[in-house]
Amino acid sequence: MKTPLCDFNIDEITALVEKFGQPKYRAKQLMRHISAYDSFDEYTDLPKNFIAQLEDEFTARPLTEVTRVTASDGAVRYLFKTESEDLIESVYLPHDYGNSVCVSCQVGCGMGCVFCASGKHGLVRNLSAGEILAQVLYIARDKKPVGGVNKIVMMGSGEPLANYDNTIKFIKLVNAPDGLNIGMRSISVSTCGLPDNILRLADDGISCTLSLSLHAATDVKRKQIMNIAQKYTVKQLVDALRSYFDKTGRRVILEYILIDGFNDTKSDVADIKDLLKGLCCHVNLIPLNPTDNCKLKPPTKKRAYAFCELLKAAGVSASVRRSMGSDVAGACGQLKNRTVESKAQSSKKS
Ligand code: SAH
Repeated sequence: MKTPLCDFNIDEITALVEKFGQPKYRAKQLMRHISAYDSFDEYTDLPKNFIAQLEDEFTARPLTEVTRVTASDGAVRYLFKTESEDLIESVYLPHDYGNSVCVSCQVGCGMGCVFCASGKHGLVRNLSAGEILAQVLYIARDKKPVGGVNKIVMMGSGEPLANYDNTIKFIKLVNAPDGLNIGMRSISVSTCGLPDNILRLADDGISCTLSLSLHAATDVKRKQIMNIAQKYTVKQLVDALRSYFDKTGRRVILEYILIDGFNDTKSDVADIKDLLKGLCCHVNLIPLNPTDNCKLKPPTKKRAYAFCELLKAAGVSASVRRSMGSDVAGACGQLKNRTVESKAQSSKKS
């Protein structure tokens, strides 16, 4: 498989330009082309022999669009195929205050959370930094007429902190002035909670918004829905978040899926309050998006808002997140699963 050119930062592109005996100024030119174009055919102002050399070793865009579904609220779910023929999903979310892209960082996911469609078939492989970036570059071009992309959320398939090096490289690439120049404040990383890697982030120059998928405030309860809770306690996670806040000054986010009758009672409010005491944070409540074959249900809207009010009354900053795009194959991984399953069905029939 050829290396994606968008895997490289400006220093690596400069070295490449030198290796091929091209003048130094071509590095910036190449960086601009990498962000803007999906194919080497569009690099029209570069010498033909240089393009041929690049084409021999590299790919301009390491993914192609397979299908897309557009929701009534303008959200678009894209299904991409990588060079290795793996399927990955990304979502475009238009907002009044700017447009976000939710990217995948792995093919599948090895974390095995019971409510999540992405982990249904386990982890296939990590995506490279360039394969993560390519999702943003493709969508930014596609949505250029309506303002492109201003925000990134790493909340698609996969666990960013289990693909640590590529995640860090991707964030630096998308943040770079020679790249899309998206500010750290406009980049969110969501993790199921790997405390050692949370502790590394700030030291590695990352100060983005950090979201922890908490979903239950006690170890006993968390273990019932998230495998990772067998390994790390909620206390270890909150300590790691405290350290991230101390180093970056960034308020952290706790994501909390609401599951009817499981984690949305008065005693859960008390547990959340105790756990988060003294942490500068905000709790995002997300009514569960029911996945195929999963018995868990979201609470009613009324119950979700009542839980939010109880949290606020207990002194915890909280809000209920409006989930967009739920009429386009719902939560992460579902479009891929349904596409793969319907292909399997039709090949059975034929
Ligand atoms: N692995 C990372 C990021 C990917 S999932 C993480 O765990 O945070 C992004 C978010 O979507 C996580 O908070 C995850 O718990 C949540 N999620 C997964 N399945 C969901 C579902 N069916 N309904 C609502 N949220 C879901």
